[in-house]
Amino acid sequence: MHVLVTGGAGYIGSHTVRELIKAGHRVVILDNLSRGHREAVAVLQKTTPAGTLDFVPGDTGDHALVSGLLQERGIEAVLHFAAHSQVGESVERPELYYRNNVVHGLSLLDTVREGGVKYFIFSSTAAVYGEPVEVPVSEEHPVVPANPYGATKLAFEGALRWYGRAGGPRWMALRYFNAAGADPDGDLGEDHRPETHLIPLVLQAALGLRPAISIFGTDYPTPDGTCIRDYIHVTDLAVAHVLALHALVRGAAPAAYNLGNGSGYSVLEVVRAAEAVTGRSIPVRHTGRRAGDPAVLVAGARQAGQMLGWRPRFADLRTIIDTAWRWHQKHPAGFETV
Ligand code: UDP
Repeated sequence: MHVLVTGGAGYIGSHTVRELIKAGHRVVILDNLSRGHREAVAVLQKTTPAGTLDFVPGDTGDHALVSGLLQERGIEAVLHFAAHSQVGESVERPELYYRNNVVHGLSLLDTVREGGVKYFIFSSTAAVYGEPVEVPVSEEHPVVPANPYGATKLAFEGALRWYGRAGGPRWMALRYFNAAGADPDGDLGEDHRPETHLIPLVLQAALGLRPAISIFGTDYPTPDGTCIRDYIHVTDLAVAHVLALHALVRGAAPAAYNLGNGSGYSVLEVVRAAEAVTGRSIPVRHTGRRAGDPAVLVAGARQAGQMLGWRPRFADLRTIIDTAWRWHQKHPAGFETV
Protein backbone atom coordinates (compact mmCIF):
# COMPACT_ATOMS: atom_id res chain seq x y z
CA MET A 1 0.00 0.00 0.00
CA HIS A 2 1.18 3.57 -0.63
CA VAL A 3 1.03 5.47 2.67
CA LEU A 4 1.40 9.17 3.47
CA VAL A 5 3.09 9.77 6.83
CA THR A 6 2.82 13.34 8.11
CA GLY A 7 5.52 14.17 10.65
CA GLY A 8 7.61 11.24 9.44
CA ALA A 9 10.82 13.14 10.26
CA GLY A 10 9.91 13.26 13.95
CA TYR A 11 10.55 10.82 16.78
CA ILE A 12 7.59 8.42 16.62
CA GLY A 13 6.91 9.14 12.94
CA SER A 14 10.41 8.15 11.79
CA HIS A 15 10.33 4.88 13.73
CA THR A 16 6.90 4.12 12.24
CA VAL A 17 8.11 4.81 8.69
CA ARG A 18 10.80 2.17 9.21
CA GLU A 19 8.26 -0.43 10.43
CA LEU A 20 5.83 0.36 7.58
CA ILE A 21 8.55 -0.23 5.01
CA LYS A 22 9.65 -3.43 6.77
CA ALA A 23 6.02 -4.58 6.47
CA GLY A 24 6.17 -4.06 2.68
CA HIS A 25 4.51 -0.63 2.29
CA ARG A 26 5.73 2.36 0.31
CA VAL A 27 5.87 5.66 2.16
CA VAL A 28 5.78 9.37 1.35
CA ILE A 29 6.85 11.54 4.29
CA LEU A 30 5.26 15.00 4.50
CA ASP A 31 7.07 17.11 7.11
CA ASN A 32 7.75 20.84 7.37
CA LEU A 33 10.86 20.14 9.49
CA SER A 34 9.76 22.65 12.13
CA ARG A 35 10.37 19.96 14.77
CA GLY A 36 11.46 16.95 12.73
CA HIS A 37 14.95 16.24 11.41
CA ARG A 38 16.12 16.10 7.81
CA GLU A 39 18.87 13.76 9.08
CA ALA A 40 16.22 11.26 10.25
CA VAL A 41 14.86 11.18 6.70
CA ALA A 42 18.41 10.71 5.38
CA VAL A 43 18.95 7.75 7.74
CA LEU A 44 15.68 6.19 6.59
CA GLN A 45 16.55 6.74 2.93
CA LYS A 46 19.95 5.12 3.42
CA THR A 47 18.53 2.06 5.16
CA THR A 48 15.43 1.27 3.08
CA PRO A 49 15.22 -0.30 -0.40
CA ALA A 50 15.29 2.12 -3.35
CA GLY A 51 11.86 3.33 -4.38
CA THR A 52 10.15 2.66 -1.05
CA LEU A 53 10.49 6.12 0.52
CA ASP A 54 10.01 9.65 -0.68
CA PHE A 55 10.24 12.90 1.25
CA VAL A 56 8.18 16.00 0.52
CA PRO A 57 8.80 19.11 2.63
CA GLY A 58 5.57 20.93 3.45
CA ASP A 59 2.61 21.62 5.71
CA THR A 60 -0.36 19.42 6.42
CA GLY A 61 -2.50 22.56 5.96
CA ASP A 62 -1.30 23.09 2.35
CA HIS A 63 -4.38 21.84 0.52
CA ALA A 64 -2.96 22.04 -3.01
CA LEU A 65 0.23 20.21 -2.04
CA VAL A 66 -1.50 17.43 -0.08
CA SER A 67 -4.27 17.01 -2.63
CA GLY A 68 -1.70 16.68 -5.43
CA LEU A 69 0.27 14.11 -3.42
CA LEU A 70 -2.79 11.99 -2.71
CA GLN A 71 -3.74 11.87 -6.38
CA GLU A 72 -0.30 11.52 -7.96
CA ARG A 73 0.86 8.78 -5.61
CA GLY A 74 -2.42 6.90 -5.25
CA ILE A 75 -2.31 7.21 -1.47
CA GLU A 76 -4.64 4.77 0.31
CA ALA A 77 -3.75 5.49 3.93
CA VAL A 78 -2.60 8.50 5.94
CA LEU A 79 -0.73 8.19 9.24
CA HIS A 80 -0.85 11.60 10.91
CA PHE A 81 1.96 12.43 13.35
CA ALA A 82 2.66 16.06 12.44
CA ALA A 83 1.71 18.06 15.53
CA HIS A 84 3.11 20.06 18.40
CA SER A 85 3.49 17.85 21.46
CA GLN A 86 4.86 19.70 24.48
CA VAL A 87 2.48 20.11 27.37
CA GLY A 88 4.23 23.12 28.96
CA GLU A 89 4.51 24.97 25.66
CA SER A 90 0.84 24.29 24.95
CA VAL A 91 -0.17 26.01 28.19
CA GLU A 92 1.94 29.07 27.35
CA ARG A 93 1.07 29.22 23.65
CA PRO A 94 -2.34 27.59 23.09
CA GLU A 95 -2.70 29.39 19.76
CA LEU A 96 0.21 27.36 18.31
CA TYR A 97 -1.48 24.13 19.34
CA TYR A 98 -4.96 25.03 18.10
CA ARG A 99 -3.57 26.28 14.78
CA ASN A 100 -1.24 23.38 14.08
CA ASN A 101 -2.99 20.44 15.73
CA VAL A 102 -6.60 21.45 15.00
CA VAL A 103 -6.72 23.93 12.10
CA HIS A 104 -4.02 22.28 9.99
CA GLY A 105 -5.26 18.85 11.08
CA LEU A 106 -8.78 19.64 9.86
CA SER A 107 -7.45 20.94 6.58
CA LEU A 108 -5.61 17.63 6.16
CA LEU A 109 -8.76 15.70 7.01
CA ASP A 110 -10.83 17.70 4.50
CA THR A 111 -8.24 17.01 1.81
CA VAL A 112 -8.12 13.33 2.73
CA ARG A 113 -11.91 13.01 2.57
CA GLU A 114 -12.06 14.83 -0.78
CA GLY A 115 -9.27 12.60 -2.09
CA GLY A 116 -11.15 9.43 -1.11
CA VAL A 117 -8.35 8.09 1.12
CA LYS A 118 -9.68 4.98 2.84
CA TYR A 119 -7.70 4.72 6.08
CA PHE A 120 -6.45 7.22 8.65
CA ILE A 121 -4.32 6.51 11.75
CA PHE A 122 -3.98 9.32 14.25
CA SER A 123 -1.17 9.88 16.73
CA SER A 124 -3.06 10.65 19.94
CA THR A 125 -2.07 10.76 23.58
CA ALA A 126 -2.94 9.77 27.14
CA ALA A 127 -3.14 13.53 27.75
CA VAL A 128 -6.74 13.32 26.46
CA TYR A 129 -7.71 11.79 29.84
CA GLY A 130 -6.41 14.61 32.04
CA GLU A 131 -5.98 13.90 35.76
CA PRO A 132 -6.85 10.19 36.16
CA VAL A 133 -9.77 9.39 38.44
CA GLU A 134 -8.90 5.69 38.20
CA VAL A 135 -5.66 3.83 37.41
CA PRO A 136 -4.93 1.92 35.20
CA VAL A 137 -6.53 4.28 32.71
CA SER A 138 -8.64 2.35 30.21
CA GLU A 139 -10.26 3.70 27.06
CA GLU A 140 -13.52 4.06 29.03
CA HIS A 141 -11.94 6.57 31.41
CA PRO A 142 -13.52 10.07 31.13
CA VAL A 143 -11.70 12.40 28.75
CA VAL A 144 -11.11 15.75 30.46
CA PRO A 145 -7.81 17.13 29.13
CA ALA A 146 -5.83 19.26 31.59
CA ASN A 147 -3.89 21.24 28.96
CA PRO A 148 -4.24 22.55 25.38
CA TYR A 149 -2.05 19.73 24.01
CA GLY A 150 -4.51 17.07 25.23
CA ALA A 151 -7.49 19.25 24.30
CA THR A 152 -6.32 19.68 20.69
CA LYS A 153 -5.65 15.95 20.29
CA LEU A 154 -9.11 15.15 21.66
CA ALA A 155 -10.70 17.74 19.37
CA PHE A 156 -9.12 16.04 16.38
CA GLU A 157 -10.27 12.60 17.56
CA GLY A 158 -13.80 14.03 17.64
CA ALA A 159 -13.45 15.32 14.10
CA LEU A 160 -12.27 11.90 12.93
CA ARG A 161 -15.27 10.23 14.52
CA TRP A 162 -17.82 12.57 12.91
CA TYR A 163 -16.09 12.85 9.53
CA GLY A 164 -15.88 9.06 9.50
CA ARG A 165 -19.68 8.85 9.70
CA ALA A 166 -20.01 11.38 6.89
CA GLY A 167 -17.94 9.71 4.20
CA GLY A 168 -14.52 10.37 5.73
CA PRO A 169 -11.80 7.75 6.10
CA ARG A 170 -12.06 4.74 8.43
CA TRP A 171 -9.81 5.65 11.36
CA MET A 172 -8.00 4.61 14.48
CA ALA A 173 -6.57 6.90 17.14
CA LEU A 174 -3.68 5.54 19.20
CA ARG A 175 -3.27 7.13 22.63
CA TYR A 176 0.34 6.85 23.68
CA PHE A 177 1.52 6.84 27.25
CA ASN A 178 5.22 7.79 27.70
CA ALA A 179 7.06 7.07 24.44
CA ALA A 180 10.71 6.26 25.14
CA GLY A 181 13.74 4.38 23.83
CA ALA A 182 15.24 4.24 20.35
CA ASP A 183 15.37 1.89 17.39
CA PRO A 184 17.54 -1.09 18.43
CA ASP A 185 19.64 -0.50 15.27
CA GLY A 186 20.88 2.68 16.98
CA ASP A 187 20.50 5.09 14.08
CA LEU A 188 17.10 6.62 14.92
CA GLY A 189 16.27 8.13 18.30
CA GLU A 190 14.80 10.93 20.35
CA ASP A 191 16.00 14.47 19.64
CA HIS A 192 13.69 17.23 20.85
CA ARG A 193 14.84 20.86 21.04
CA PRO A 194 14.55 21.76 23.81
CA GLU A 195 14.45 18.31 25.41
CA THR A 196 11.85 18.03 28.17
CA HIS A 197 11.41 14.25 28.53
CA LEU A 198 12.75 12.35 31.47
CA ILE A 199 14.71 9.49 29.88
CA PRO A 200 16.73 11.57 27.36
CA LEU A 201 17.45 14.16 30.06
CA VAL A 202 18.65 11.45 32.45
CA LEU A 203 20.93 9.99 29.76
CA GLN A 204 22.31 13.43 28.89
CA ALA A 205 23.16 13.79 32.60
CA ALA A 206 24.87 10.35 32.48
CA LEU A 207 26.96 11.62 29.55
CA GLY A 208 27.93 14.72 31.54
CA LEU A 209 26.03 16.99 29.13
CA ARG A 210 23.87 18.19 32.05
CA PRO A 211 25.08 18.69 35.58
CA ALA A 212 22.09 16.96 37.19
CA ILE A 213 18.53 15.84 36.68
CA SER A 214 15.75 17.79 38.40
CA ILE A 215 13.17 15.61 40.10
CA PHE A 216 9.87 17.43 39.75
CA GLY A 217 8.22 16.75 43.10
CA THR A 218 8.93 14.22 45.84
CA ASP A 219 5.69 14.64 47.78
CA TYR A 220 3.28 12.77 45.50
CA PRO A 221 1.10 10.02 47.01
CA THR A 222 3.34 7.25 45.56
CA PRO A 223 5.70 4.83 47.37
CA ASP A 224 8.83 7.01 46.89
CA GLY A 225 6.99 10.33 46.48
CA THR A 226 7.86 10.80 42.78
CA CYS A 227 5.49 10.52 39.81
CA ILE A 228 4.79 7.16 38.22
CA ARG A 229 4.55 6.77 34.43
CA ASP A 230 4.09 3.97 31.92
CA TYR A 231 7.09 4.02 29.55
CA ILE A 232 6.50 2.35 26.20
CA HIS A 233 9.18 1.65 23.60
CA VAL A 234 8.94 3.74 20.44
CA THR A 235 9.40 0.66 18.20
CA ASP A 236 6.47 -1.02 19.98
CA LEU A 237 4.42 2.11 19.24
CA ALA A 238 5.57 2.02 15.62
CA VAL A 239 4.55 -1.63 15.22
CA ALA A 240 1.14 -0.85 16.74
CA HIS A 241 0.51 1.63 13.89
CA VAL A 242 1.23 -1.02 11.28
CA LEU A 243 -1.10 -3.45 13.07
CA ALA A 244 -3.79 -0.76 13.32
CA LEU A 245 -3.56 -0.13 9.58
CA HIS A 246 -3.78 -3.83 8.79
CA ALA A 247 -6.76 -4.19 11.16
CA LEU A 248 -8.59 -1.36 9.35
CA VAL A 249 -7.89 -2.99 5.99
CA ARG A 250 -9.38 -6.23 7.35
CA GLY A 251 -12.51 -4.27 8.28
CA ALA A 252 -11.95 -3.39 11.95
CA ALA A 253 -14.26 -0.73 13.34
CA PRO A 254 -12.90 2.78 13.96
CA ALA A 255 -11.74 3.16 17.57
CA ALA A 256 -9.29 4.79 19.95
CA TYR A 257 -6.81 2.49 21.71
CA ASN A 258 -4.34 3.05 24.52
CA LEU A 259 -0.73 2.07 23.92
CA GLY A 260 1.27 1.40 27.07
CA ASN A 261 2.89 -1.49 28.92
CA GLY A 262 0.46 -1.42 31.82
CA SER A 263 3.24 -1.08 34.39
CA GLY A 264 4.45 2.09 36.02
CA TYR A 265 7.87 3.30 37.20
CA SER A 266 8.61 6.27 39.41
CA VAL A 267 11.00 9.05 38.40
CA LEU A 268 13.52 7.73 40.95
CA GLU A 269 13.18 4.18 39.61
CA VAL A 270 13.93 5.49 36.12
CA VAL A 271 17.05 7.28 37.39
CA ARG A 272 18.24 4.13 39.20
CA ALA A 273 17.57 1.93 36.18
CA ALA A 274 19.54 4.40 34.03
CA GLU A 275 22.44 4.25 36.48
CA ALA A 276 22.40 0.45 36.23
CA VAL A 277 22.29 0.51 32.41
CA THR A 278 24.96 3.19 31.95
CA GLY A 279 27.20 2.23 34.87
CA ARG A 280 27.43 5.95 35.70
CA SER A 281 26.09 7.90 38.61
CA ILE A 282 23.42 10.46 37.76
CA PRO A 283 23.23 13.43 40.12
CA VAL A 284 19.69 14.46 41.08
CA ARG A 285 18.30 17.71 42.40
CA HIS A 286 14.95 17.83 44.13
CA THR A 287 12.81 20.67 42.80
CA GLY A 288 9.13 21.49 43.13
CA ARG A 289 6.30 19.89 41.23
CA ARG A 290 5.81 20.70 37.56
CA ALA A 291 2.35 22.15 36.90
CA GLY A 292 -0.14 19.72 35.41
CA ASP A 293 1.66 16.45 36.28
CA PRO A 294 -0.70 13.73 37.55
CA ALA A 295 0.82 11.52 40.28
CA VAL A 296 0.25 8.24 38.45
CA LEU A 297 -0.43 7.55 34.78
CA VAL A 298 -0.49 3.88 33.80
CA ALA A 299 -2.27 2.41 30.80
CA GLY A 300 -4.98 -0.14 30.73
CA ALA A 301 -3.90 -1.36 27.28
CA ARG A 302 -5.62 -4.73 27.01
CA GLN A 303 -7.85 -3.62 24.15
CA ALA A 304 -4.94 -2.95 21.76
CA GLY A 305 -3.72 -6.48 22.53
CA GLN A 306 -7.12 -8.01 21.90
CA MET A 307 -8.21 -5.96 18.89
CA LEU A 308 -4.90 -5.39 17.11
CA GLY A 309 -2.90 -8.43 18.27
CA TRP A 310 -0.31 -6.01 19.68
CA ARG A 311 2.33 -7.34 22.13
CA PRO A 312 5.09 -4.97 23.23
CA ARG A 313 8.51 -6.55 22.57
CA PHE A 314 10.60 -4.09 24.57
CA ALA A 315 8.46 -3.87 27.70
CA ASP A 316 11.29 -4.06 30.21
CA LEU A 317 12.35 -0.60 31.48
CA ARG A 318 16.07 -1.43 31.35
CA THR A 319 15.76 -2.59 27.75
CA ILE A 320 13.97 0.64 26.87
CA ILE A 321 16.71 2.70 28.54
CA ASP A 322 19.45 0.55 27.00
CA THR A 323 18.24 1.25 23.44
CA ALA A 324 18.02 4.98 24.24
CA TRP A 325 21.51 4.86 25.79
CA ARG A 326 23.00 3.38 22.63
CA TRP A 327 21.46 6.21 20.61
CA HIS A 328 22.61 8.96 23.01
CA GLN A 329 26.16 7.61 23.22
CA LYS A 330 26.48 7.57 19.44
CA HIS A 331 24.62 10.87 18.99
CA PRO A 332 25.42 13.11 21.96
CA ALA A 333 24.31 16.15 19.93
CA GLY A 334 21.28 14.35 18.51
CA PHE A 335 20.90 13.98 14.75
CA GLU A 336 23.58 16.59 14.17
CA THR A 337 26.10 13.91 15.17
CA VAL A 338 25.06 11.63 12.27
N1 UDP B 1 10.37 14.63 35.12
C1 UDP B 1 11.28 15.01 36.09
N2 UDP B 1 12.36 15.76 35.69
C2 UDP B 1 12.58 16.14 34.40
C3 UDP B 1 11.65 15.74 33.42
C4 UDP B 1 10.54 14.97 33.81
O1 UDP B 1 11.12 14.70 37.26
O2 UDP B 1 13.57 16.82 34.14
C5 UDP B 1 9.20 13.81 35.50
C6 UDP B 1 7.87 14.44 35.15
O3 UDP B 1 7.43 15.26 36.23
C7 UDP B 1 6.99 13.21 34.96
C8 UDP B 1 7.96 12.15 34.44
O4 UDP B 1 9.27 12.62 34.76
O5 UDP B 1 6.50 12.76 36.19
C9 UDP B 1 7.88 11.97 32.94
O6 UDP B 1 7.94 13.25 32.33
P1 UDP B 1 8.08 13.47 30.77
O7 UDP B 1 8.20 14.95 30.53
O8 UDP B 1 9.15 12.58 30.24
O9 UDP B 1 6.71 12.93 30.16
P2 UDP B 1 5.17 13.31 30.50
O10 UDP B 1 4.76 12.38 31.60
O11 UDP B 1 5.11 14.74 30.86
O12 UDP B 1 4.48 12.99 29.22
